[in-house]
Amino acid sequence: MASQNVDVLIIGAGPTGLGAAKRLHQLKHTNFLIVDAAAEAGGLPLRTPPPRASFLIHVIFSHYLYFDDVINEALPKPDDWYEHERVSYVRSKNTWVPYPYQNNITMLPVEDQVKCIEGMIDAAEVRARAADKPKNFDEWIVRMMGTGLADIFMRPYNFKVWATPTTEMQCEWLGERVAAPSLKLVVSNVLNKKTAGNWGPNATFRFPARDGTGGIWKAVAKTLPQERFSFNKTVVRIEGTKKIAHLSDGSSVGYRSLISTMPLDEAVEIIDDAENLRPTSRELIYSSTHVIGVGVRGVLPPRIGDKCWLYFPEDDSPFYRATVFSNYSPYNCPQAEVKIKTIQTADPSLSGSVDTTSERPGPYWSLMLEVSQSSQKPVDEENLLADCMKGMISTGLLKAEDEIVSTYHRKFHHGYPTPSLVRDGQLKVLLPELKNKYSIWSRGRFGSYKYEVANQDHSFMVGVEATDNILFGANELTLDSPDYVNGRANTERRL
Ligand SMILES: Cc1cc2nc3c(=O)[nH]c(=O)nc-3n(C[C@H](O)[C@H](O)[C@H](O)COP(=O)(O)OP(=O)(O)OC[C@H]3O[C@@H](n4cnc5c(N)ncnc54)[C@H](O)[C@@H]3O)c2cc1C
Repeated sequence: MASQNVDVLIIGAGPTGLGAAKRLHQLKHTNFLIVDAAAEAGGLPLRTPPPRASFLIHVIFSHYLYFDDVINEALPKPDDWYEHERVSYVRSKNTWVPYPYQNNITMLPVEDQVKCIEGMIDAAEVRARAADKPKNFDEWIVRMMGTGLADIFMRPYNFKVWATPTTEMQCEWLGERVAAPSLKLVVSNVLNKKTAGNWGPNATFRFPARDGTGGIWKAVAKTLPQERFSFNKTVVRIEGTKKIAHLSDGSSVGYRSLISTMPLDEAVEIIDDAENLRPTSRELIYSSTHVIGVGVRGVLPPRIGDKCWLYFPEDDSPFYRATVFSNYSPYNCPQAEVKIKTIQTADPSLSGSVDTTSERPGPYWSLMLEVSQSSQKPVDEENLLADCMKGMISTGLLKAEDEIVSTYHRKFHHGYPTPSLVRDGQLKVLLPELKNKYSIWSRGRFGSYKYEVANQDHSFMVGVEATDNILFGANELTLDSPDYVNGRANTERRL
């Protein structure tokens, strides 16, 4: 006997769980419960900010009007948001190449421009002759961009992001939507010595003014009945056949349907009767992500300017991406009058030359870095912060003498679900069996493991659509048709 029974139990109050709950509430269902191991709603995007500066990372792009409506309802005032233009660069060959990289290779040394253009010509010929589809992500890169761009940017960058060689990843997750770069445009830009960003007319994004992205999800949770949430409780065991979830406080919840947003590989481990699925679920591949933040004293230097996020394909830094977090909202940093001690200089050997004992006013700015890790790409976790400091100096983000006022390092064990060569086969076994045999809808970034539909807007809608599937048998568009959702035919998409 369970201590409590509900129609729908939701594990996780992140974007997916909140999407499921929002839809149930909208449809006037009251017999549901959301259980989360954390102390409040928000999932991955909600991370307690360090005391001096906030490093919540996520940027919102939307593919859905429903999602827009929900976040506008939660944060309705114009001053709840800042709108930004995407200003993005790739650090390559000691310079900042505006994104998209291939359109701006005129910034590269001439021999690299030649390699890139020769590779693109070869690739165009291969594409014209090819009868089959590329067998993996690496073949896809070479066929779309050529070996020049592959070697200088795509291969090293993608290994830094995924911590998995491109030869071991599928390319289906990219869908049909990614076009080969225009050889004409690339050559014309090179001959005209032109460099220009090419994000298109809607190249803007919104960011919450306060509380980072986690603030959005806390606000969405507030629009739901609070008695539907049960925090600080971990689901530790699921009796699959009996449909009872056991929680860390010793209580249990019986359910008719379960929407689980915990990682699929972890869920299968705690379902009593799902031993037969474990050989498959244990082979799902993911990488871990380290998020590192630094708060810096001083006026934002011109070398940083209005940059939003920056890509780092080369091995002079451990991080693959840096975000100038203080550019997203002035509230992402302490205000200038706040007095903070300097901890060290970026190069700690210079720390003796600055005052590290007294609290002094700002202004301040901040950077947030991401580093991937896997068994194929180990990370020296203990020294990662120091290695990132060196990387920020060698890539020109920081000067050796810059004063660091705060640091932050957090590891997300499940960071990126890897689109491996065998992933789709694994998901075809796992997801239907959990649903059909145990009434478990495993959904969300790691619940359904599909990177191509694992951003916040996707995850939220995956939750909404799981609810509609449970209640009405409706099609789960996002999970089943990522190409449509992410493609140009989807007129709700804002990119
Ligand atoms: C480094 C990084 C950068 C990202 N950047 C962006 C970005 O810029 N834009 C964007 O849109 N998205 C971004 N994302 C993706 C975004 O974080 C996800 O889309 C979103 O968090 C997925 O929501 P979810 O609800 O599926 O999972 P989660 O957010 O992981 O929520 C799952 C919840 O389940 C709970 N839980 C897990 N196991 C249990 C258990 N056994 N019992 C009880 N509770 C449990 C957890 O505590 C958590 O609250 C990024 C992700 C990472 C890692």
